[in-house]
Amino acid sequence: MDNKFLLFTPGPVNVAENLRVAISKEDICHRERDFDVLLGSIEQKLLSLFQIENRNLYRAVVITGSGTAANEAMLSSVVGQGDVLILSNGEFGERLHKTSQIHNPKTHLIEEPWGEAFNLKRIEDYLNAHKIDVIAIAHHETCSGMLNPLEPIGALAKTHGALFIVDGVSSVGAESVNMESSNIAFCSSSSSKAIGSYPGLSFVIGGKEHFEKLKQHKAKSTYLNLATFYEFLKSRSQTPNTPAVPLFFALEQALTNILKEGVSKRFETIRQRAKSLRSGMRKLNLKFLIDEKDMCSVLTTVHVPHLINVTDLKRCLREQSIIVYAGKGCFKDKVFQVGNIGEMTEFDIQFFLQTLKEALRTSKVNKISSAAPIRLTKPVLKVMPNRQGAEVSATL
Ligand SMILES: *Cc1c(COP(=O)(O)O)cnc(C)c1O
Repeated sequence: MDNKFLLFTPGPVNVAENLRVAISKEDICHRERDFDVLLGSIEQKLLSLFQIENRNLYRAVVITGSGTAANEAMLSSVVGQGDVLILSNGEFGERLHKTSQIHNPKTHLIEEPWGEAFNLKRIEDYLNAHKIDVIAIAHHETCSGMLNPLEPIGALAKTHGALFIVDGVSSVGAESVNMESSNIAFCSSSSSKAIGSYPGLSFVIGGKEHFEKLKQHKAKSTYLNLATFYEFLKSRSQTPNTPAVPLFFALEQALTNILKEGVSKRFETIRQRAKSLRSGMRKLNLKFLIDEKDMCSVLTTVHVPHLINVTDLKRCLREQSIIVYAGKGCFKDKVFQVGNIGEMTEFDIQFFLQTLKEALRTSKVNKISSAAPIRLTKPVLKVMPNRQGAEVSATL
C-alpha cells in the first residue's frame, strides 16, 4: 500500500517519520519500570507543552481512548451530584452536553447557533441566577473553526465558584491554553490532532488540588474514572488498565518533536500555514464561514461555492491524494473544511491550492454539463510529493 494521502483534515494527520519508528519499538510490560518512565516522560512533556509555570501544582493522566474518552472522563468524574453548565456553539459543544446529560442529571445548557460567538453577558446573567458547580466548553469548536475565549469565561467561573473544564481536543498543540491565567481546573486533549500523533490516546491535565478532590465523588464509570487514573499515576506512574503502549511511544515522540521545535515556534508554524492556505483560497474567490479573527489556526471552514457539489469536489481532490472534510449537521453540503496540522510542507500547501483550483473548475463543469461529466485527466503532479522535497516533479 503506497498510496500516500495528504490529510488536510483536522485530525487524523500525517505523522512525522520518526513516529513510525517510535511506534514499533521493543515490547515492554506496562507493570514494569520501563512504562513508569515512559508515562513520566509524557507527563513532563505535556506540562511543558502547556507552558505551566508552577509545574508542581499540575498533573496529567493519559487515557487509552480517543478525545471523547477524555471528555467523558472529565464530565463523569468532576461533579458528583452537582450542576454542570455546558456552553455550546456547535457540534462539539452539543456532544459535551449529551455526554454530561448521561452522567449528570443536573446539566444546564447555554446554546448559541453553530458558528456564532458566545455572549459573555448572557453567561454572567445565567451564573447570577443559577448555582453552577462546573462550566464546560469546547475551546476550538471544530465544526465551524471558531476559537472560543477561555480567559473571560474562566474569570466568570472563578467569581461564581465554579470549576472550569475545557475540551481542548482540537486546539492543544496549536493554540495556547493557559491553565493558570484562565483558571482551568481540567483540560482534555487527544494524540491525533494538533499534537500530531496517531489516534487512540487522550489525556486530561489538571490542577493537583482538583485531582485530589475527585475521590469525594461516587464513581459513575469504571474505565473512565479520573480519580482512579490519578491514584495509579500518583502511586506508581501507571494507568489503571492495559494501556496501548506503542501509541504511548509515538505520543512521546510527537511531544519531543514539538518541544524540540519550541512550543511558540510550533504554534507560529501552524499559524503561518493557515495564513498561506487562507490567502490562496481567497485568491480562488472562496468565502469563509467565519471571520478570520475568530478562527483557530488549525483549520479553515469554507463555503461551498455556487454550482459545486461537495461530494464531487472531495472526489476530485481524492483522485489527487488530497483529503478534506465535508461539513456536518446544519453545515452539511454548505461548507468544507481544510486542516493544516500534522506533517505538512509549504510544497504540500501549494500543491493543494493548485489542485483545489483544478478541482473547483472540474466539478463546476461537471455540474453544468451533467450529461457528459468530464474528469480531471492530466495529473497535476507526475510524481507524488515527497516530504523532503526530493524526487518531485511538479507542474505548479
Ligand atoms: C475531534 C474532537 C473531539 C472528539 O475526539 P475523538 O478523538 O474523535 O474522540 C472532541 N472535541 C473536539 C473539539 C474535537 O475536535
